Amino acid sequence: MAKISINLATGSFQKEEIIVGIDLGTTNSLVAFINPEKNPQVINDSGKGILVPSIVHFNHQNEAVVGNEAKEFLTTDPANTIFSVKRLLGRSYKDVADHAAIFSYKIIDDDTDALVKIQAGDRFYTPIELSAEILKELKARAEHALKTPVNRAVITVPAYFNDSQRQATRDAGKLAGLDVMRIVNEPTAASLAYGIGLDPSEQKTIAVYDLGGGTFDVSILQIQNGIFEVLATNGNTYLGGDDFDRAILNYWIEKNNLDLTVVAEDNILMQTLRLQAEAAKKALSTQNLYNEQVGEIWCTLDKQTFEQLIAAKVEETITACKNALKDADLTTAEIDEVILVGGSTRTPFVKQAVENFFGKKPQDNINPDEVVALGAAIQADVLAGNRSDILLLDVTPLSLGIETMGGLMDVIIARNSKVPTKAGRQYTTSIDGQVNMKISVYQGERDLVKENRKLAEFDLKGIPAMPAGLPKVDINFLLNADGILTVQAIELRSGVKQEIEITPSYGLSDDTVEKMLLDSIEHAKSDVEQRMLIEARSEGEQLLYTAERFIEKHAEHLTEKEISETKVHIESLKTALSSQEKDTILKKADELNEFTRPFAERVMDAAISTAMKGKKIE
Ligand code: AMP
Repeated sequence: MAKISINLATGSFQKEEIIVGIDLGTTNSLVAFINPEKNPQVINDSGKGILVPSIVHFNHQNEAVVGNEAKEFLTTDPANTIFSVKRLLGRSYKDVADHAAIFSYKIIDDDTDALVKIQAGDRFYTPIELSAEILKELKARAEHALKTPVNRAVITVPAYFNDSQRQATRDAGKLAGLDVMRIVNEPTAASLAYGIGLDPSEQKTIAVYDLGGGTFDVSILQIQNGIFEVLATNGNTYLGGDDFDRAILNYWIEKNNLDLTVVAEDNILMQTLRLQAEAAKKALSTQNLYNEQVGEIWCTLDKQTFEQLIAAKVEETITACKNALKDADLTTAEIDEVILVGGSTRTPFVKQAVENFFGKKPQDNINPDEVVALGAAIQADVLAGNRSDILLLDVTPLSLGIETMGGLMDVIIARNSKVPTKAGRQYTTSIDGQVNMKISVYQGERDLVKENRKLAEFDLKGIPAMPAGLPKVDINFLLNADGILTVQAIELRSGVKQEIEITPSYGLSDDTVEKMLLDSIEHAKSDVEQRMLIEARSEGEQLLYTAERFIEKHAEHLTEKEISETKVHIESLKTALSSQEKDTILKKADELNEFTRPFAERVMDAAISTAMKGKKIE
């Protein structure tokens, strides 16, 4: 293996190796790099196009196809064609339940806080695995186009992504065989593409307005000494260009005196009209009238009518801008630059609305579909140490985290985070009446703590006895500019608290860091697979525990047959748990869950009616 030297202070690699920038989008994804002329450039592999639709289709052999090829299956095999997986990344079913209807594939509703899973064919996939398929395709395209292995990347995420969503993105990268050098906020990448923030002496406040196909967000950023701080974000994750298409479609249906329910039943016609509506919208970005015919249906639209159709939606985005400014405690006059991102900002009416609101012309020279990936490539170049003009801030060379269930490493401060930094997460107990919690702090990139470097361990004592899952324990990491890490654990209900100080760099040589990073790259795929198996096992075991207790406690509400059949499901989950096969475990857990759900509802109803009986209604 080629030797790669690592700059301890920055965690960056010294060897000349391309690090790509990836925009992993809800609708489309793309990859960019810095070309030999030192300019950021998007990759168009063998003329396949720049944008890869973020869609994964599984055939009968469970083989994945990604991108345009997968898009064709949206109408013919919707159950096995996964789109918008970014909406599910790092989320639980509870998080997405309100919008479950928009997904044409099966999302497992296990009624827990565990991360969602998707069923396609007889397999279960996590959004991490599905995103990894998209990333693998981007990696392959980059390697093919650049004729060199691509192993490292910077990946962008929305500014509003939480820890769990960022960690899921990192894991997806790992699973795709990429060393994720940094997760960068999309608005930060967009600013970098416009050259904003590259000069450390620059001080600016900017607004990034991002209207894509299905999502809208606006971020207010402050740039100071080369550091981007997100002051506020706002938006609507279910608003975008697709709504414009729908408005046009409904308009044509009305104008042609068609019945929406009849059209909706005809998949092919619906799809044709939807594509026609999108074509009309795009055409109206540069012309005043669109006029086509689909069979007997007239698809005519002028610019003014189009603008009336979308006015309310556009107004909604402006309201979000107002709210973001309010949260940041700023006025429009205090915004130095406005940047446009996302394909839908090509609509002149949108551009004008943004200009009217902010009172200045927004930056729109760079292709709004590409600007984020281009900025990610610039960030990658900075991390690679190729930009001597830019001051690299101190970063932590290895991730810092704690041990969680099954011996997994839960990263709290990720590698390459700028120092000083602070981050935290909430945990709870796993056993009823648990009064102590052991907190073990580790450093490293592997998924299992036993492969990482242990820094310290302490007990949070005196948690009041409560049922499992009720205590709320906040664990906060604070890494100061001198590299001293303070770990604080606090149980929020009782206030019990414990704190320690560690110096993570103590006894850590360049060689050790290098070895740890190389090991993590080598074992990335098996590590993530192991992590997913452990997570599936923990979920399965938890369900087993609940189900066994349930039939014991509520036997009077169940028939003999129901009890014996539940026991059969319990036994097959037990067998699955000993099989070490993630998919089998998830499948059996899902079956047990589905089978017992009506009983749980019955018990709940009974409990409610008993409670009601106790109350007098006057
Ligand atoms: P994105 O999610 O950023 O890839 O944006 C995709 C959205 O941009 C889709 O709704 C497209 O229909 C829309 N879009 C692409 N090109 C144009 C255009 N020329 N005018 C208006 N909307 C466009």
